[in-house]
Amino acid sequence: MQTTSAARKLQDIVVGLAGNPNSGKTSMFNNLTGARHQVGNWPGVTVEKKEGRLVQDGQGIRVVDLPGTYSLGAYSEDEAVARNYILSGEPDLIINIIDASNLERNLYLTTQLLEMGANLVLALNMIDEAEKRHIKIDLKALAGILSVPVVPTVAVRNKGTQELVLAAVSVADRKQSRPFAIDYGKEAEPGIARLEKALTGVEAIRHLPARWVAVKLLEGDEHIYGRVMQSPKAGDIIKKRDEVAAHIESMTGLDPESLFADRRYGFIAGLIKETVTRKSTTEERLSISDRIDRVVTNRFLGIPIFFLSMFAVFQFTFSLGDPLIGYVEEFFEWLGEGAGALFSNELVASLVADGIIGGVGAVLVFIPPIFLIFFAITLLEDSGYMARAAYIMDRFMHRLGLHGKSFIPLIVGFGCNVPAIMACRTLENKRDRMITILITPLMSCAARLPIYVLFVGAFFTAYQGLIIFSLYILGIALAIMMGILFKRFLFKGEVSPFVMELPPYRVPTLKGMLIHMWERGWAFIKRAGTIIFSVVILIWVFATLPTGVEFASRESYLGAIGGFVAPVFAPLGFGTWEAAAALIFGLLAKEVVVGMFGVIYGIGEDGLTVAIQAYWTPLSAYAFMVMSLIYIPCVATIATIKRETNSWRWTGFAMAYSLLLGWTMAFLVYQGGRLLGLG
Ligand code: GDP
Ligand code: MG
Repeated sequence: MQTTSAARKLQDIVVGLAGNPNSGKTSMFNNLTGARHQVGNWPGVTVEKKEGRLVQDGQGIRVVDLPGTYSLGAYSEDEAVARNYILSGEPDLIINIIDASNLERNLYLTTQLLEMGANLVLALNMIDEAEKRHIKIDLKALAGILSVPVVPTVAVRNKGTQELVLAAVSVADRKQSRPFAIDYGKEAEPGIARLEKALTGVEAIRHLPARWVAVKLLEGDEHIYGRVMQSPKAGDIIKKRDEVAAHIESMTGLDPESLFADRRYGFIAGLIKETVTRKSTTEERLSISDRIDRVVTNRFLGIPIFFLSMFAVFQFTFSLGDPLIGYVEEFFEWLGEGAGALFSNELVASLVADGIIGGVGAVLVFIPPIFLIFFAITLLEDSGYMARAAYIMDRFMHRLGLHGKSFIPLIVGFGCNVPAIMACRTLENKRDRMITILITPLMSCAARLPIYVLFVGAFFTAYQGLIIFSLYILGIALAIMMGILFKRFLFKGEVSPFVMELPPYRVPTLKGMLIHMWERGWAFIKRAGTIIFSVVILIWVFATLPTGVEFASRESYLGAIGGFVAPVFAPLGFGTWEAAAALIFGLLAKEVVVGMFGVIYGIGEDGLTVAIQAYWTPLSAYAFMVMSLIYIPCVATIATIKRETNSWRWTGFAMAYSLLLGWTMAFLVYQGGRLLGLG
C-alpha cells in the first residue's frame, strides 16, 4: 500500500520508544506495530530488543522498544542500552511514554532525555487514570514549555495512537534548535560553562551535547569519563572537573549529582505547578517542602508573606547596621584628621581629608548595612525561598500580562542593576526582554541603600526599617506599573509560557552564605575604591574652583552648577544647590549622592547629619529619596541598556521616562504630604 506522498522519505523514520517501567510502553508498541515485530537481544547484552515496522501515508516507520528505565544514568544495563541507543544518532526521534497519573516520577526521565538533546514526542499515556484521579493537565502549556509535541493516549484502548504517529512524522526532520537546559544554580552554572569550554575539540564526544557531557562528568558518569579519557586533554579536563565539583560541594554541601537531581526535581515541581491542577485527596502524603509551599505559595498568603519577609530583611539591616555605622564613621573621622595633618600644603590636605577620605569614607561607612542586606538576601536565596517569591510574583505578573521570568532580573536588581539588565537575556521573547530592561532600573540597588540609610537615620526616629522598605516596594510597584503600560502601548503581544524552578527547601551552609555575601559586598567596596574615588576627586575640584572662593560654597563651580539646576527641584521640596549637585553627580554612580555630602560636610553625626538636617524636613527628605531611587539610572546602567538593546533611542527613552517619573513621584510625595499637613 505504498502511495506517492511528497513528504515521503525513501528511508524509514526510526523511532525509539522510551519510558518508565509500567508506563504502557509494550501496549503502545503493540498498537503501533500490530503483530509485525521481532524480538532479539541488544548487541552484546542480554537485554531484550523488540523492533517493528509500520507505514503511514507511504512513509515507513521503524519502531524500537527501549528497556523501561526511570533514569538515564549508566548504572544498570537497561539504562546503558537505552542511553547508548539514543546517543547513537540512529533514531530520528524518541517517543517518551509517560504515565500521566504519575507525572513527578515519569518526568524525571523526560528531563534527562531533553537534556541529552533528544528529538522528543511526549505521549501522555493513562490519561484515563489521570482523569479518574481528578488530575487535569494543560497539554498546550506543557507542550509550550518543553517545546515538544504532547499527545494524550490510552494505550490499552488503542486511543491516541494515530495522533502519536502523525506527531512523530511531523517532527522526524526537526533539528534541535536550542538544547534544553535546566538551570543548576549560581553555584554550579559557571563551573559547568567552564567545563563545557574545556571540552571543545574533544573528538570522542564530538556528537554529544557539550553541556550534557559537562553535567555527566560532574555527576561522575563512568561511561562519559571513559570517553573523555581517550582525549589528550583528559588530564586538564579531569582536573577542572574536580575543582568544579569541589566548589559545588563546598558552596552547597551537596555533591554535584545530588544537587543536579535536586534541581531537576525542582524544575519538575515548577512544571507541574504550571500545568497540572488536581483536586487534593486526603490520603495524599506531603513532603516537608510541599507543606511549607502550601503556606508560602498560597494564593492569598503568598504575597503578604513575601512582603513580610522583605520587611524583615530591612528591619534586620537597619536595626543591626545603623549602630555599627557610627564605629566606621569614627574611624574615617580619625583617618581624615590624621591624614589632613600630614600635609602642610593646605590644598593637598583638603584634597585628601575632604575630598578623598570625606567622599569615599561617606560611602564606605555603609559597609555594615550593605553586608547585612546581602547576608539576608543570600539567606532567602540559598534556603530556596527566593524561588518561591519569584514563583508567586510570576503568577501575579502573569495575571497582569507580564512575563514571570522578568522577576528574576528584578531580584538581581536589588544588588546591582547592571547584571540585572544582563540577566534579561534569559527572556527569549524580544518584547518581554525590552520591557524588563526598561523597568529593571527601578529596582533599588545596593548603591541607593546608603542614601536611604543616611536620610532615614537623620530624619526619622521611628519605623526606620519600614520607611526603607517602602522605597523598595515603591520601586517594585512602579516597575510593575510601567511594565503594564509598556506592554499595553509599546510592546503588545502574547505572554510566552515558562516554568519557575522550585528547588526543595534547604538549610543553607554558613560558608556558602558568607562567600556570597563577601562576593557581593566586595563589589561595593571595589566601586568605592575606583569609580567613587575618581568622582569625589572631581567633585572636590569643582568645590575648590575657582581659586579664592570658600571651599564648597555657593560661589564654587559645584555651587554654580547645582544652583543653576536647583529651581527645577524647588517644587519637590529640595531646591537647594547641594541637593541638585548631589543628584547631578549621582548620575555617575548613585553612592556619589552620599559621597558628595561627605566631601562638602565631612563625615559623622555633627558634620554630615547636622548639615543635612539644616535644610531638609522629613517630608522633603522622603521626596529626595524617592527622586534618588527613580531619576535616571547611573551611567554604568545606561551603558548596559545601550549594549543590551543596541538602540540609542530606547536608551534615551529609559533615561527620559525615569527622570520624568522620578520628578512626578517626588512632586506627588512632597506636595501631597504638604496638603495632608505633613510638611
Ligand atoms: P510497560 O511496562 O511500559 O511495557 O507497560 P505495559 O504496556 O506492560 O502496561 C503496564 C500496565 O498498564 C498493563 O497492565 C496495561 O494494561 C496498563 N496500561 C497500559 N496503558 C494504559 C492506559 O492508557 N490506561 C490504563 N488504565 N492502563 C494502561
Ligand atoms: Mg513492557
